[in-house]
Amino acid sequence: MSAKVRVRFAPSPTGPLHIGGVRTALYNYLFAKKNDGVFVLRIEDTDQNRFVEGAEQYIIDALNWCNIPFDEGPGKEGDFGPYRQSERKDIYRDYAKKLVDNGHAYYAFDKAETLDNHRKEHEAKGKTFIYNWHNRQKLDNSLSLSEEEVKLRLAEGEDYVIRFKSPESDILHLQDEIRGDMEINTEILDDKVLFKSDGMPTYHLANIVDDHLMKITHVIRGEEWLPSLALHVMLYRAFGWEAPKFAHLPLILKPQGKGKLSKRDGDKLGFPVFPLEWKDPKTGEISAGYREDGYFPEAVTNMLAFLGWNPGTEEEFFDINELTRAFELGRVHKGGAKFDPEKTKWFQQHYFQEADDNFLAQEFHKLLKEKEIDADLDYVQKVVEIVKERATFVKDLWEQGDYFFISPTSYDPKNTKKAWKNDTSEIMQELSELLKKQDDFSASNLQENVKAWIGAKEIGFGKVMQPLRLALVGAMQGADLFVIAESIGKEETLKRIEKAISTLG
Ligand code: GLU
Repeated sequence: MSAKVRVRFAPSPTGPLHIGGVRTALYNYLFAKKNDGVFVLRIEDTDQNRFVEGAEQYIIDALNWCNIPFDEGPGKEGDFGPYRQSERKDIYRDYAKKLVDNGHAYYAFDKAETLDNHRKEHEAKGKTFIYNWHNRQKLDNSLSLSEEEVKLRLAEGEDYVIRFKSPESDILHLQDEIRGDMEINTEILDDKVLFKSDGMPTYHLANIVDDHLMKITHVIRGEEWLPSLALHVMLYRAFGWEAPKFAHLPLILKPQGKGKLSKRDGDKLGFPVFPLEWKDPKTGEISAGYREDGYFPEAVTNMLAFLGWNPGTEEEFFDINELTRAFELGRVHKGGAKFDPEKTKWFQQHYFQEADDNFLAQEFHKLLKEKEIDADLDYVQKVVEIVKERATFVKDLWEQGDYFFISPTSYDPKNTKKAWKNDTSEIMQELSELLKKQDDFSASNLQENVKAWIGAKEIGFGKVMQPLRLALVGAMQGADLFVIAESIGKEETLKRIEKAISTLG
C-alpha cells in the first residue's frame, strides 16, 4: 500500500496572500481531498527581516473564506508540529551538521565584502561569479582550510554559513508531475547556503527537512520554485531520504501584456489581486480584496481552479466538491495562465443567480442596516426575488431596487421633461383617487383597474405609466409598476404620487 497522501501549502508570512498563492493552496487542497489525504499549512517564517504583522492570520482567514481549510497547521496541531518554522529552529542546525559530517556540506567563512569583490571583478569581465566546485578550493571554507584551523575559527565564534557541496559534474534526472522529465548538469549549479550565521536555516534546508519530517508525499507549488528543484533533489539524496513527487504550477499572467500578474495590474485595471482586503500595518495602505468587493468564495475558487487547469469537458461551473471530484494533477497546464477579471465577474454572476434567496436576503438586510434602513426580512426577500435577475453582487440589489425602501430623492430631469406634461398633474391626481378606492392593493387588481380606467379615459398608456414610474422610482427603470405599488403599499404609493405632483407639477 502506498503512503497516505500528505501535501502542504508553505507560504512565507511576508504580506497578504496573492491570488496566485491561493491557487497553489487550492490545488493542494483539491489534490489532498481527491486522494483522501491531508492538507497541511506550514508557515515558513525563518526570514525574520521579512516578518509582517498579521500576515499569518490573513493567510488562515483567506483559506477559510475560500472554503479550503487545512487539516494540520498553526492552531490545528497534528502529529507533525509545530507548524511554524520559527518554532522549529533547533531542528535545522542538527541536519545542517549532518550534511557537513557526511561530506555533502561545508563551513564557509568568506566575508560579505570579499564575495562582493569577486562578484564585481567577474562582472567587469562580463562573467558571473558562482561559488561552486571550480573555485571553492580557493575560497575561505572548510574544504580549503585545515581541520585545526576550522575548529579554531568555530571555537572562536567566527561567523560562518554552511553551504551545500554540489557535485562537480553529474547529470541529474528530475521528474515533475506536470512538466515530465528534465535533465540538468550539476556543473552549472552554485553551492547554495543552507544555514546562516544568525542560527537560522535558509528556505532550502528548512523546506526539505520539514517536508521530510512532515511526511509530505507531493510538493505542489508555483513555477518560480522550479529552479530550486535540482538542489532539493540533491538534498534528499545527501540525506539518504526518499524525495516526494513534485509538481510545479504554471504562472498566472497579466490580463494584458507580458509577465506575471502583479498588484499593479489590479490597481490599473480595477480588480483585486488578494482574496481579502489587506491593510498594510506600516503604511496603512489598503489593498482591495475579493471578499470586500462582494464576490462569493465559490466564484473565486471556481475562477482560480480554471487558471491553469480544466476538466477536459465544456462544463465550467464547479463548486468546491465538484472540483474535488474532477481535479487531476495530470490535467494542469505547463504554460502560463492569463488572468481575466471579466471571467471572475461571470462566475460571480452565475453563483449569485444560483444563491438561495433567503441567503441573499440576509446579506442584503445587512447592507440595508448599514444604510440605516430598517426593513422586515420577509419584505427584503420579496425584493430580492423581484430584482435578483439583474444583479451580480449584493450591492447591485440596492442599485436595482433602492426604491422599494426609499422614495425618490430626485427625478431624472431628461425623462421628467418628456413624461411630465401640462395635464400630467391632473391625471396623476385622478389616478390617486382611483388608487385610494382600491381595497385590494395586489398588483393584479391594480393592473386591471388602472388599465380599465386608462381605456375609459381614452388616453395613451404611456401618459399615465411614465409619470407614475417617475413618481414611484424617480427614473425610467425598475420592476413592474404594479408590483412596486403592491410592495410599497397603498399609503406609500399615494404619498409618492403626491410628492411628485407637488415637486414636478
Ligand atoms: N516558502 C515558500 C513560499 O513562500 C515555499 C515554496 C515551496 O512550496 O516549496 O512560497
